[in-house]
Amino acid sequence: MRYPLTEEQLLIQQSAREFAERYVEPEAIRVDREAAFPADIIKKLAEHDFFGLVFPAEYGGIGAGFLSYVLALQEISRASASVGAILISHCALAAYSIYRWGSGEQKERYLPAMCRGDILGAFALYEPGAAPGWGEQKVVAIPKEGGYVLRGRKYFVGNGGRAGIYVVFALTGPEAGPQEMSAFVVEAGARGLSIGRDIDKMGLRGWPTTELVFHDVEVPASSLLGAQGNGLAVLKEALAAARISAAAQIAGIVEAAFQQSVKYAKERMQFGRPIARFPAIQNMIAEMAANLQLARLAVYSTADLVDKGEPFEAEAAMVHMLAARIGQKSCTDAVQIHGGYGYSRDLAVERLLRDVKGAIITDSAGEYPEFTVAESILA
Ligand SMILES: Cc1cc2nc3c(=O)[nH]c(=O)nc-3n(C[C@H](O)[C@H](O)[C@H](O)COP(=O)(O)OP(=O)(O)OC[C@H]3O[C@@H](n4cnc5c(N)ncnc54)[C@H](O)[C@@H]3O)c2cc1C
Repeated sequence: MRYPLTEEQLLIQQSAREFAERYVEPEAIRVDREAAFPADIIKKLAEHDFFGLVFPAEYGGIGAGFLSYVLALQEISRASASVGAILISHCALAAYSIYRWGSGEQKERYLPAMCRGDILGAFALYEPGAAPGWGEQKVVAIPKEGGYVLRGRKYFVGNGGRAGIYVVFALTGPEAGPQEMSAFVVEAGARGLSIGRDIDKMGLRGWPTTELVFHDVEVPASSLLGAQGNGLAVLKEALAAARISAAAQIAGIVEAAFQQSVKYAKERMQFGRPIARFPAIQNMIAEMAANLQLARLAVYSTADLVDKGEPFEAEAAMVHMLAARIGQKSCTDAVQIHGGYGYSRDLAVERLLRDVKGAIITDSAGEYPEFTVAESILA
């Protein structure tokens, strides 16, 4: 089962694999253990043009397309899903929202710097207990002459504290509701904007996730992303792009789990033979291999929809749902195949199980993938 990739896509995949092996893999354990932001790797990613893969040359990118980006993301996530997560927040959530919804001025101001990696992007949607646009959101953008005043607190902001710009969702009307939610581009240096607590996580530990506090932050009307009240439309598209990305990240994690499991099963001797000879182990490895193929094919064909300009929201939710199930099962089996050592921190395989859980939960923001899929079928 091979997805028909072009010469250029194969080349990008190969160079991302080499990049990941050379720069990301050697740092992956330290990044996880110390919950360390991988600043040097991010700098190298920028130097190697990985931040500009999706975006056209007129905005400083290399215009290789969304499929090329997910190929690179999968390779990088195989080495470190934390680094993959930083890339997703930057490319699929922040930069992609600006690319799709930004004014000409916003695109010129932010995208070239984001493609060069001069600034990182972040996406600030989440508030506890608040389904976006459905009445429980507390972050508001109160209209005032020439702009808005933002007030409130966002949680779990990936790349928080490291980003130069934040795509922020806030209610612009007195009555909460989907038509009252708007998106803004807010610069990190805006007066009244501060970084709150850095949330300590079980996985994806090298990816900073912080609170973001808005204390009467004044922004000009030109910082609106799309029109006032368009927030839900911006969110849905960015979320779909992020779901395909998270599925690619999960495919990368599963590939790591698979490779480590095959190696260990061949080396580990029990009852006088390698455990790879036991049918129980073979079944888990066979299922992992088949699922990995399935995940790859689904991710690539969904990414291709983005490149072709076709609708991809329902397919993105489907691929995230599928990858989530495959990821959870494969990483649990990988720990099982490694036995007691799999559960210990002596080996890297336990990190994969912690990271995959994060990749599953992260992009459920607001609408669960199952909900999006069911709505697309039953509406
Ligand atoms: C590592 C990490 C990074 C994150 N990064 C970001 C970020 O960069 N920007 C951002 O804005 N947010 C981010 N988030 C927040 C993330 O989007 C939310 O945590 C996620 O949407 C889940 O929301 P919740 O935590 O409120 O869970 P809840 O919505 O309270 O869910 C709790 C339980 O209820 C179930 N549930 C709830 N509603 C439904 C439903 N309609 N159908 C079926 N089941 C349902 C869930 O499956 C879950 O089991 C991040 C979260 C994590 C863990």
